[in-house]
Amino acid sequence: MKIRISDIPPKGLKIEERLEFSEVDFQEVGLQATQEVEIAAVAEKLDNDISIKGEYRVKFRAICYRCCEEFDYNLDKPFKFEYKVDSNKEQDLKLIITEDILLSLPSKILCKDDCKGLCAICAQNLNIDHCKHKKE
Ligand SMILES: [Zn+2]
Ligand SMILES: [Zn+2]
Repeated sequence: MKIRISDIPPKGLKIEERLEFSEVDFQEVGLQATQEVEIAAVAEKLDNDISIKGEYRVKFRAICYRCCEEFDYNLDKPFKFEYKVDSNKEQDLKLIITEDILLSLPSKILCKDDCKGLCAICAQNLNIDHCKHKKE
């Protein structure tokens, strides 16, 4: 969806969108969107700015940084984007959201905060079972 200034009425423009992301969109961060991203937002003209404010909801297939298991990673998040009125450029909602998602991701995605990871010796998933290699 492209947003142009001329599309925004004085009382604001309501945006309800579902954006489809392909397999490669988040490949570089090891994620795959498994559903359309739902976006609910309002675009408004302020004095010198356009503001787009709302939230999005996205579901990823992710691989845990510690235990290497696949899991569902959900991101429900408010976002806010502002740009100058004088730019006549269209704003692509998909690019805005993609950027916000990338900025919101933790550098290491874990299946849970206290994921125990894999044993460095036998690669046993320590969330599931113990092994005989005790950590100091
Ligand atoms: Zn894990
Ligand atoms: Zn072990």
